[in-house]
Amino acid sequence: MNSSSLVSRLDSLAAFGASNVAVDVLRLDLLHPVVSGNKWFKLKKYLSEAGKKTILTFGGAYSNHILATAAAANERGLQSIGIIRGEEPNDYSPTLLQALHNGMKLYFTSRDAYRHKSIPLAVYDNFSFEDLFIIPEGGYGAKGMEGAKDILLNNATGFYTHILSAAGTGTTLAGLTAAANERQQVIGISALKNNFSLTAAIRELLPAEKHHRFTVLYDYHFGGYARQNDELFYFMNLLYKKTAVPTDFVYTAKAFYAAFDLISKGFFKAEDRLLLVHTGGLQGNRSLSKGTLIFE
Ligand SMILES: *Cc1c(COP(=O)(O)O)cnc(C)c1O
Repeated sequence: MNSSSLVSRLDSLAAFGASNVAVDVLRLDLLHPVVSGNKWFKLKKYLSEAGKKTILTFGGAYSNHILATAAAANERGLQSIGIIRGEEPNDYSPTLLQALHNGMKLYFTSRDAYRHKSIPLAVYDNFSFEDLFIIPEGGYGAKGMEGAKDILLNNATGFYTHILSAAGTGTTLAGLTAAANERQQVIGISALKNNFSLTAAIRELLPAEKHHRFTVLYDYHFGGYARQNDELFYFMNLLYKKTAVPTDFVYTAKAFYAAFDLISKGFFKAEDRLLLVHTGGLQGNRSLSKGTLIFE
């Protein structure tokens, strides 16, 4: 991976926040056409341990994790199974269609069964349990965290004082925190509403001495997971107009919005250097109606 090509400067927007904080973006969205952003890092340790087994994982109908797993497994010649939350829809989402296209077998399960992460019995008509390699929802776990460390370690990121990223399961944030140097602060922007257990979930993946090396901000969810409003779309379009950086409405737009809100509120000092991790996820924008965004 060529680190310099993945970092783009956002100084024009820092100015828009009336501050001289240096802001750069680590464009993980440019890494791979399908296995975008942080998902590639979170999956790689799991996949290298899977051997020849069939990959099984869990997610919703719009899940970036489901699609990334389908594509990454397919590239390695592995079969994959997606356990999808909720009834089988009449019309599959673009995410599910692309997962199918990448050879993933989909099984739909009730929300209740999904909550318990139980494997539908129908799976065992075609697969035996010993042949399955299970990746937890969102890649949460030590292997996901280990892989996510490379987001910082594979790139020249020691220069930054603050690393900011969107957070869902917190696996990525745990990896960033584990890899950050002593002078760096890691900030996570929760994409979910009131999921205050996130801080504990991240700590669980970290050694005790790193438990206070990150902060999660819970006030930038815009109404909840995958919720949005005109202000968010306005921000996404403005950001794109000024910097040509596209964002997704579920994760990265909320994280970047938070960054510029924090800058405008004086959260950072003038000499601080902020790295925004673009965790990808742009495929999710395909669920929006046409014309909402000025970019694809
Ligand atoms: C999955 C995802 C996240 C959340 O990552 P976690 O490791 O679960 O916190 C953030 N951004 C994007 C674009 C994602 O697809």
